[in-house]
Amino acid sequence: MLQDKDRIFLNLYGFHDAGLSGARVRGAWDNTKALIEKGHDWIIGEVKKSGLRGRGGAGFPTGLKWSFMPKDDPRPSYLVINADESEPGSCKDREILRHDPHLLIEGALLASFAMRAHTCYIYFRGEFIREREAFQRAVDEAYEARLIGQGNVHGWDLDLFVHHGAGAYICGEETALLESLEGRKGQPRLKPPFPAGCGLYGAPTTVNNVESIAVVPDILRRGGSWFAKLGKANNTGTKLFQISGHVEQPCVVEEEMAIPLRELIEKHAGGVRGGWDNLLTVIPGGSSVACLPTDVCGEITMDFDALSAAKSGLGTAAVIVMDKSTDIVKAIARISYFYKHESCGQCTPCREGTGWMWRVMERMAQGRAQKSEIDLLLKVSKQVEGQTICALGDAAAWPVQGLIRNFRHVIEERIDSYQAKSKSAQGDMDRAEFIEAAE
Ligand code: SF4
Repeated sequence: MLQDKDRIFLNLYGFHDAGLSGARVRGAWDNTKALIEKGHDWIIGEVKKSGLRGRGGAGFPTGLKWSFMPKDDPRPSYLVINADESEPGSCKDREILRHDPHLLIEGALLASFAMRAHTCYIYFRGEFIREREAFQRAVDEAYEARLIGQGNVHGWDLDLFVHHGAGAYICGEETALLESLEGRKGQPRLKPPFPAGCGLYGAPTTVNNVESIAVVPDILRRGGSWFAKLGKANNTGTKLFQISGHVEQPCVVEEEMAIPLRELIEKHAGGVRGGWDNLLTVIPGGSSVACLPTDVCGEITMDFDALSAAKSGLGTAAVIVMDKSTDIVKAIARISYFYKHESCGQCTPCREGTGWMWRVMERMAQGRAQKSEIDLLLKVSKQVEGQTICALGDAAAWPVQGLIRNFRHVIEERIDSYQAKSKSAQGDMDRAEFIEAAE
């Protein structure tokens, strides 16, 4: 369990002053200049040493990503921070944006310096209106105090722009975000080229999640090895977990990476509604990952490697708990609708496949299907997975695959019960027709 001394987010719940003076009391902007004076390579080296993996879902090593940025390119370099938090179940970045914004601004300065960028954009989710206002206040304060901007006290010029999206889920995909930032329709780009070579306005760009950047000042001040000691090998540091659904106290909490899922739910969210034995399933990383069977929920740890070995994923660490009152087939059908609705339509497997999967899922939720269609659905989901420009295709396929893997019996029972009811209704109709004819 994470000790208080190792916490990074000291104002997660907004109980204290989110402004500059409050942030300084909590340690933000403490001798930032000294960190910058240690040089670009030292910062990237410390972030690599920390083992930090991107907190937006993919879990790519952050320091390694930064090292892909060119060192002597005549084009300008950009840091883009992805604050388009839209994955169902995710609600961690908004707490940083409105309650601890200076951690992010300081992190943006340090990361921009490490990657030789003088311009940083923060792309906000369309619905985050109050969050954007709160964050803009902090940016204004930082400019006013000359912590950022041209000729700032740290000796590395940085302009930081807040950009507000229009509310499309797909703009959370990094290249769709860049398209949107450039003023076009938010549709993912084919990769390669990757943003580090050709990103925003055709220039070297790194896109990072809010939490990934907000933890950087603490990593640099306390040392990469401090962060690396938390959690477990290859899954280091602290992490913001978001627990929602059928728990007594839904919450966002900072914990050590690789905490057992059961401990996380029981210690911080007051446990499953009706007790652990009332648990049906957990979606551990936001709606795009597969749900877990109950026995796995009792043993699994919350980290990238353990969850991917269990054929699910840590994703954004948005833990959605479902108790036995849940109609799991209907719940996954609703998730399928979400991905169908959010597909940008560029690639055929995603555009057609997400709609097809949703329609079949809807029939299965009613039981109005054939059992042979379960394997057909699985087959189609595999034809969508990995066959598309961006990961939305996978995000649509994985929840369906998780349902079939863990709850096939529920789908089959639903079909059996529907067919039994249909047969009995047909029998009643036949009898009524027979009596009518006899009369
Ligand atoms: Fe668009 Fe879907 Fe293709 Fe992604 S996978 S580019 S969302 S059509």
